[in-house]
Amino acid sequence: MGFKFKGFGGGGSFAHGVHPPERKNFSGDAAIEVVPPPGKVMLPLLQNVGAPSVEAVKPKTVVAVGEMVAKGSAFVSAPIHTPIAGKVMKTGMTTLANGRHVKAMPIKADGEQLTGQALWNDVFGGEWPRDDLDQYDGKQIVDAIQGAGIVGLGGAAFPTHVKYVPNDEKPIDTVLINGCECEPYLTADYRVMLEAPDPVITGTLLLGKVTGAREMIIGIEDNKPEAIEVLTRAAAGTGIRIAVLKTKYPQGSEKQLIVAATGREVPLGGLPLDVGVAVSNVGTVAAVARAVLRGKPLTHRVITVTGAGIRNPKNLLAPIGITMGELIDYCGGLTPDAARMVAGGPMMGFAFSDMNAPVTKGTSGITILTHDDLKREEETNCVRCGRCVDVCPMNLVPTKIALASRYKDAELAQQYNIMACFECGSCAYICPANLPLVQLIRTGKAVVIAAGKK
Ligand code: SF4
Ligand code: SF4
Repeated sequence: MGFKFKGFGGGGSFAHGVHPPERKNFSGDAAIEVVPPPGKVMLPLLQNVGAPSVEAVKPKTVVAVGEMVAKGSAFVSAPIHTPIAGKVMKTGMTTLANGRHVKAMPIKADGEQLTGQALWNDVFGGEWPRDDLDQYDGKQIVDAIQGAGIVGLGGAAFPTHVKYVPNDEKPIDTVLINGCECEPYLTADYRVMLEAPDPVITGTLLLGKVTGAREMIIGIEDNKPEAIEVLTRAAAGTGIRIAVLKTKYPQGSEKQLIVAATGREVPLGGLPLDVGVAVSNVGTVAAVARAVLRGKPLTHRVITVTGAGIRNPKNLLAPIGITMGELIDYCGGLTPDAARMVAGGPMMGFAFSDMNAPVTKGTSGITILTHDDLKREEETNCVRCGRCVDVCPMNLVPTKIALASRYKDAELAQQYNIMACFECGSCAYICPANLPLVQLIRTGKAVVIAAGKK
């Protein structure tokens, strides 16, 4: 294609990182299909970073599609809305794909459901006017985002309204939209950009309006030329710039994306806000447009089901609260050589074994790996090659953090800045000894948090 990395501050890349095989071919060409409504959904009451949601309706209540069934319990929390019409059952427990046991509200389907094309039209279809956005003021936009229960759909699940509340001390001058989807295998964001560019653009303009930002940028990796083309066309005349970024992992993580697109460095332990930037994912901004223009909450999301271990890889518009197993079945089931189910992609995802784990707002994909994919995984001793240090985008020393974690030494782990690790998995990917660096770091973080609570 010969893209030039010019015209934006960061030069299109960041320091360190890795180049895992992309594997987007399984599902990249699969147009988003609308999953038929299930007989029941299980809505976890913790689907966001921050405080859990609390029940807003009693068991046996009959609810319509989109009705709020749980409300946020704090500022950093988000309400939950039912994706199906039905009857609320007694709150129980469920196990999320990441292994956490949380309260969950079951809703049994009853009555008429939105399906097929009608559901697509409701979520992404129709007109997305952008000429009269001045009718919405900042408060209305933030209130709509908060009321719709929108969280970061890239996987982080941080409540979106929190990022866009006006902050005079730290004004936002750049709204940066993340269309990188650098995680191997996943293609949900890619399909949203191709098939629903208009709500992405309208949502970006709304966030530009609410922040009064001078710049609106959508960052896309150069391995997605079709998405670049579609969004460039859709953004014409709006002032939104498409930044074509180098394909590298983890280009889509907030801090790396900010450096690549603007040249600004978020300080260690700091937030994008500290350098005047707010980052949201393309799926999130489409949900923002829907919430503001149509008054519709977040009830469905696009999920990639992919890998050599699934019979028919697909991109799906699925109701939140459906089980992972139902989506796998919808894609023809597992192949005989399927060996591991991962919620998300292979770099940052969580291996899970319970088909009943519900899809949450943060579920971007299900990747099914085969025995062949997992072949070279036997752990040996650290050979002190330093490759994990060379690739860490946060300039950490993963091998030392992992060792401190292994020995449950919270103090040492903190000295090595364990909490700055965002678990991108680059170190584990590159390690020739196959050390489970990320798992060790995750455990180490739990030890540090527990030590802080004592
Ligand atoms: S230490 Fe953390 S941030 Fe650094 S490469 Fe490993 S997982 Fe990524
Ligand atoms: S990459 Fe693996 S083997 Fe090399 S120093 Fe890091 S932990 Fe040790």
